[in-house]
Amino acid sequence: MAEMDRSHDLIIGAGIAAMQAALDLGNAGYEVFLVERLPSIGGRMAQLSETFPTLDCAQCILTPRTVDVGHHDHIHLITYAEVESISGEAGHFHARIHRHAAYVDWDKCTGCGMCQEKCPTKVPAEFDRGLGLRKAVYTLSPQAVPNKPVIDQEHCLYLQRGKCGLCAKVCPVEAIDYQQQDSYIEVEAGAVILATGYNLYRLEDLPEYGGGKVPDVIDALAFERLLSASGPNAGEVLRPSDGKQPKEIVFVQCAGSRAPERHMPYCSKICCMYSAKQSILYRHRVHDGQSYIFYIDIRSPGKRYDEFVQRAMEEEGVIYLRGKVSRVFRHNGKVTVMGADTLSGKQVRIDADLVVLAPALVPRPETRRLAEMLNVPIDEIGWLTAANGDLQPVETGQPGVFVAGTGVGPMDIPETVAHASAAAAKVMELFRQG
Ligand SMILES: Cc1cc2nc3c(=O)[nH]c(=O)nc-3n(C[C@H](O)[C@H](O)[C@H](O)COP(=O)(O)OP(=O)(O)OC[C@H]3O[C@@H](n4cnc5c(N)ncnc54)[C@H](O)[C@@H]3O)c2cc1C
Repeated sequence: MAEMDRSHDLIIGAGIAAMQAALDLGNAGYEVFLVERLPSIGGRMAQLSETFPTLDCAQCILTPRTVDVGHHDHIHLITYAEVESISGEAGHFHARIHRHAAYVDWDKCTGCGMCQEKCPTKVPAEFDRGLGLRKAVYTLSPQAVPNKPVIDQEHCLYLQRGKCGLCAKVCPVEAIDYQQQDSYIEVEAGAVILATGYNLYRLEDLPEYGGGKVPDVIDALAFERLLSASGPNAGEVLRPSDGKQPKEIVFVQCAGSRAPERHMPYCSKICCMYSAKQSILYRHRVHDGQSYIFYIDIRSPGKRYDEFVQRAMEEEGVIYLRGKVSRVFRHNGKVTVMGADTLSGKQVRIDADLVVLAPALVPRPETRRLAEMLNVPIDEIGWLTAANGDLQPVETGQPGVFVAGTGVGPMDIPETVAHASAAAAKVMELFRQG
């Protein structure tokens, strides 16, 4: 199989989709370049607390995968980097990758964490959706792979004003390098997999739910961080405005989904399931807490999914209200939610301590540029589009370019992983044909 040695695959993104495809290809003996925009791999799954319907700890099932990817002989991780340009055709793609300066020499760094401990600057942590703080020198999470920090140039006192330098003073291996520059890596690959994932629709774009201006109205990923043992309160659910334990939470599904007049026309597919999950987990953390879920209808097709939603309703005391929320506003230190219960035909008003929105899943804007460079079709929303969604779900119509995971549209983790394995299989087929 001489062609195997020449066959490299370039995977863009390093969430669970990309990691699955990389492991499938790497385990089959092919070389993989895995390019991730963030300093470490794992994507959105790394932000989750537990997963439906088994309530497995997300980190516990993800970490062995991230470690396998990080140590794999055939997988070459290029993190904190983006594809600047890419051209070519099946068998002969050429990509130029722009790697951001981390201001830390990762070859020397042992990941001891001393720099993070001593850094005096704290800023809101993006990984915790702004609910927690991180230092100016940081890793995304304690389980980060690679476990190497980066210095956030914008907030580092030394890089901004030439003051401080504490991280360099305490680093036992002299890995801090304030002079480090961005670098560029040229990569040749036979095939490309786009696995760039999804974003959540922004609260600012949902004025009917306070437009991001009402305290204690947060999105579902932020709530995942509140539930997470590695989150800002070590898994204790506390509301952001005053750190008190919320006794009543309203979950609002379809925030921006299934709303063709104002927002996204489609169903985001996973929100019914994760809202049920979050309301169950909330009840496990706050035993005397009450949660309500506003829904249009429940969509739970998947193995043991419907039983899971039934469990939320019947065993965990979650009150499901069929109807739409019309207004959300601050009143007397609470978040008042006005809505309709279409089953009873009554208007509902709940004075909640916390409101958790399940915003539409939307494409990441930067995926469009990659799609244009590779001549891959995207739909009117910006999702990557398979050539034939029915029979060729991972092929793009461009030979040698494949898609994997939620860059194509909303999917849960099992569907993402299956999609990614399908993409890896197609790459192997291509490479075996030489
Ligand atoms: C609140 C919430 C709870 C959820 N709970 C569950 C659950 O319990 N069970 C379940 O099955 N599913 C759950 N999901 C769904 C789950 O998050 C997704 O199925 C899964 O994370 C998708 O993985 P992915 O690899 O496709 O995308 P992502 O996780 O988004 O990964 C994409 C990666 O690509 C990187 N990237 C993007 N653009 C570029 C670029 N241009 N260059 C380089 N890198 C790039 C990103 O930084 C990211 O690391 C939940 C989702 C939400 C929002």
